[in-house]
Amino acid sequence: MASTGILTRSDPAPPDAPAWSRLVAGAIRDGAELCDRLGLPRERADDAPGFPALVPEPFLARIRPGDPGDPLLRQVLPTREEQVKSPGFTPDPLGESAAIKGACLLAKYANRSLIVASGACAVHCRFCFRRHFRPADPPSEESIASAIGRLAADPSVHEVVLSGGDPLGLDDPRLAWLLARLADVASLRRVRVHTRFPVAIPQRVTASLIETLRGTRLVPIAAVHVNHPAEIDRDVAAALGRFVDAGIPVLGQTVLLRGVNDCADTLATLFERLVDLRVMPYYLHQLDRVAGAAHFEVSETVGIRLIAELRARLPGYAAPRYVREVPGEPGKRVLA
Ligand code: SF4
Repeated sequence: MASTGILTRSDPAPPDAPAWSRLVAGAIRDGAELCDRLGLPRERADDAPGFPALVPEPFLARIRPGDPGDPLLRQVLPTREEQVKSPGFTPDPLGESAAIKGACLLAKYANRSLIVASGACAVHCRFCFRRHFRPADPPSEESIASAIGRLAADPSVHEVVLSGGDPLGLDDPRLAWLLARLADVASLRRVRVHTRFPVAIPQRVTASLIETLRGTRLVPIAAVHVNHPAEIDRDVAAALGRFVDAGIPVLGQTVLLRGVNDCADTLATLFERLVDLRVMPYYLHQLDRVAGAAHFEVSETVGIRLIAELRARLPGYAAPRYVREVPGEPGKRVLA
C-alpha cells in the first residue's frame, strides 16, 4: 500500500476526497473555537494536551447553541474537570498495555481478538478509555502482519473486533485490504466493527463502505456507539438504515454518563429509537475509570436502578445488558 489510507489531524483533505473525509479534515479541533461557534464563553473550554477537542460539523449541528448543559456538548467539550485527579482513575484503566500482543492486537477475550485498526476518530469523546492510550496512527503493515500471524496460530478465535480510534477512519481501500488479510485466516468467521462514525459523521456510511464490508467472506457486524437520543438526526437514522438494508446487523453500545444520559426517560427514548431504526441495544457500559473522566461517573447502584426501570418499561429485547469491563476477566462482567 502506497498510501496510509487514513486521515490524521495534519492531513489536508484533497479536493476529490469523499465528503466524509473532508468533514474529518474540517472538524473543530479547539475548545475555544467550539465555544465561539455555540455562543458560549471561551473560558468554559480547557483543551487537554494530547487529547484536544475534535468535533465534526454534523455532530456540532445537533448541539443546542448557548446551552452549556447540552448533553452532546458535555461529551465533546474539554473542560477543567478533566485535570482533576481522582483516586482510582488511571491512564490505562483496562490494563490494555498488558493485553497487547504485537503493535495492534489485543487478546483480551476468549474466542475473539481485537485489532486496533486506526488511531483516528471522527470525534473525541472526553470519557474515552483510550484517551491516554492512543495507538500508532495507522498501524504499520508489519504490525498488521504480526497480528494476522497470531490470529492464524489460534484457531479458537472466530471473531475479530476492529476497534481504534475508529476503524472507519480508514478509507475504503485500506479497510478492504485489512478485511482481505483477515479473510485469509481460515478460522475467522466474523468481523465486528466498533465505530462512532455513523453518529459523528453519518456521511461515512457510503455505498462504497457497504460494498467493502460485504465484499469479504467474513460476516460483518456494526457495533455503533451512541449515547443520547439527540445524537440521532435524520442523517444518522439513514446511515444506520443503510447497514441494516444491506443485511449488516447493527448493535447499539451506550456508555452511562453523568449529565448526559443518567436518566431512565433519556435511556428509554434512546433505546426505543434504536429499535425503531432496527438497531439492537446491546450494551449499556459502566464508565471505564480513565484519568480525566471522573466527572462522568454514575455509581453502579444508580445504574442497576436505571436498568431495572428500563426493563419494566421496554420490551425485553430493547433493554441492553448493563456491563463493565474488569481487567484480566475473559469477557464483560454483567451488572444487571
Ligand atoms: S470515538 Fe470511540 S475511540 Fe474515539 S474518542 Fe470516542 S470513544 Fe474513544
